[in-house]
Amino acid sequence: MNNNQAITDKQTCSECGKELFGRTDKRFCNDTCRNSFNRKLRAEEKARDNENIPAIFKQIRTNYEILKQYHLEKLNEGATIHITKQELLGKGFEPKFCTSALNKGFNELWLFCFEFGYKKEGERHFELCFDPIQAK
Ligand SMILES: [Zn+2]
Repeated sequence: MNNNQAITDKQTCSECGKELFGRTDKRFCNDTCRNSFNRKLRAEEKARDNENIPAIFKQIRTNYEILKQYHLEKLNEGATIHITKQELLGKGFEPKFCTSALNKGFNELWLFCFEFGYKKEGERHFELCFDPIQAK
């Protein structure tokens, strides 16, 4: 009787679905299954977090990626480059979303997305710079 009871209540591994024997509080057949299960759980949580982040964070991340690309292609530390507003905005850049600002004087307002800075140059251009201090 007791054996039949045990069979109908059999526990299965939460990861692979195999039948579990032994302790009734076991959830996995081995460490591989436990690790695999937890890894998937963390990946799902991370994906959910990414879905729920506010649009402004996504835009700042987009801005950062765009500026980083320019940095990788053209900028050296301390150097500046000049690009057209059309090109920058055409990539999806939104100048008003930044992480810090630095006013170096008249018409010298630098906005930063972490370590990458940008400044309006007239109506049609932007100047870009790299300043690791702004990322701290
Ligand atoms: Zn398993």
